[in-house]
Amino acid sequence: MSNVQTLQQLLRQLDQRGYKAYKQIQGRYEFPEFTLMIDYVQGDPFAAPSRLRVQVPQTSTHTNIQGAAFPTDLYCTPSRAIALRDYLTRQFDAATADIREKRGSGNSGLIAIARPTQQVLERTAVLISDEWVEARFVVGLPARGRQILGHEAAALLCDNLPVIVERALKYGNLNQAELQHHVETVEDTDWLRQQLRDRHLVAFIPTGAILPRQSGVDDRPLTENALSFQAPPSLQVEFERPNHGRITGMGIPEGITLIVGGGYHGKSTLLRAIALGIYNHIPGDGREGIVTHPTAAKIRAEDGRHIAGVDISPFINHLPQERSTTRFFTENASGSTSQAANIMEALEVGTQVLLVDEDTSATNFMIRDRRMQALIAKDKEPITPFIDKIRQLYQDYGVSTILVMGGSGDYFDVADTVIAMSEFQPADVTQQAKAIATQYATHRTAEGGEHFGPITPRVPVNNRFSAHDEERRSRLKVRDVDELVLGKESVDLSAVEQIVDVGQLRAIGAAIAYLQRYYLDGLQTLNDVITHVMADVEAGGWDDITAFPQGDLAAFRPLELAAVLNRWRSLNFR
Ligand code: ADP
Ligand code: MG
Repeated sequence: MSNVQTLQQLLRQLDQRGYKAYKQIQGRYEFPEFTLMIDYVQGDPFAAPSRLRVQVPQTSTHTNIQGAAFPTDLYCTPSRAIALRDYLTRQFDAATADIREKRGSGNSGLIAIARPTQQVLERTAVLISDEWVEARFVVGLPARGRQILGHEAAALLCDNLPVIVERALKYGNLNQAELQHHVETVEDTDWLRQQLRDRHLVAFIPTGAILPRQSGVDDRPLTENALSFQAPPSLQVEFERPNHGRITGMGIPEGITLIVGGGYHGKSTLLRAIALGIYNHIPGDGREGIVTHPTAAKIRAEDGRHIAGVDISPFINHLPQERSTTRFFTENASGSTSQAANIMEALEVGTQVLLVDEDTSATNFMIRDRRMQALIAKDKEPITPFIDKIRQLYQDYGVSTILVMGGSGDYFDVADTVIAMSEFQPADVTQQAKAIATQYATHRTAEGGEHFGPITPRVPVNNRFSAHDEERRSRLKVRDVDELVLGKESVDLSAVEQIVDVGQLRAIGAAIAYLQRYYLDGLQTLNDVITHVMADVEAGGWDDITAFPQGDLAAFRPLELAAVLNRWRSLNFR
């Protein structure tokens, strides 16, 4: 093991040498305050940056040096530990932003930790134990052209880095009240989400929450003219949180809930906030108290997607050319078949709540009114519309639906709760909607039968995808949250709305490489395979399933892993 002086000298000696010589600095160095691990050194200044870690001991062995010293109660439960690690990641990010300077060509001088989103996710950027705090980050080792800038590198690693560590990873230097609040908020939110089941609710939106965002590409809260959420009295529920006491808001009961209202009155904004209520949000986000059933799946139409062997027969039958709908294959789905497949695939991995917005649905999947039933006979229409299956789905499988539907009152007949959005505020209009449903009968023929129909498990088969090429370069690439590239194939995820962090896609990519090796034996169902991977990550952590310690991963749900596998065209199902 070398010390900081060795590293400093080495870097200075490397000055002006060819970039490849940087490879020599790989290794472990003892700084007075922490241990630096240089795990991977980039091959040239334009390649993916080098990967480093620091470990700060909780208790320093030097008498005049302060350790990380985080009180145990800030990380004694999974919920608290995730919150603390999230907070430290944000501090590290802020500290590097202050120091980041351009030092030569390519990504020279870059020092960065995986940038967190508005969501508090379990990420691999910062880890904590009773012995140490570890931060994982990347560095662009400085160069001019392809020539090493050794003095710049020494300044970056031996001068700047200790400042960042000092500011971001030591309890004594942090805003302790803010940190405490962060941890308590996350813990309260996890607790709230756990209460939903006992209260027979699928979602909860606190009074005072801010739902609208800055823009479609900026997930921070809208600040100007944002109206805060007010729960309607009849749907108001109350909780006594462990840390921050009483909270009141709107509870959405199990069953079928319609969100109605005029255009531009906040319906989609509400549904989107509910969809992201599967995650915890940072204090000040406006959505930090919103919680949704953890398996809730946002469903939409996605024409053009590939579908492999999904049983869509509850919704689609008697296709032209006698195509099978119990094992439906297509390389180019229609709006309605894609929406049916999206629902069936979500059910296949255990979703208990569907979230559907008319804005992103196929009309012929959602409704088929009396006039159309009269003109086009049932045996000439392959689609059984959602309206005729939504109740059966709840009755047979206990799956609730929250549906934004401003355009058709036919759904009043099948709804348990109807919420009207007006001027961005909800009102409970269930009674009126029921009265109207009685007064103006739709005279539709129910086409869905007594039962929902089968949810058929599928068995995926190995296609021998390898995550690395012969030179150990990664074959996984991530482009924003909308695309994961597996080798030569791009998987389009723009319709998978509950992926919020690129780290989740990286983690899903890693999970796919792993599950291929160990679980795709052509015998186990998709659901079993995914359950195994999730259990392995839970038991051994991310480092167990990746080739090297990665600092850029974020946790995902089984549902999103399934969503990627289902859209991966080269994966076959038996
Ligand atoms: P709808 O689905 O009913 O047509 P949206 O949810 O798309 O309406 O909302 C329309 C616009 O109003 C969006 O730009 C959204 O950001 C904004 N908005 C939504 N809720 C609020 C609110 N509570 N305060 C201020 N603006 C809001
Ligand atoms: Mg809308």
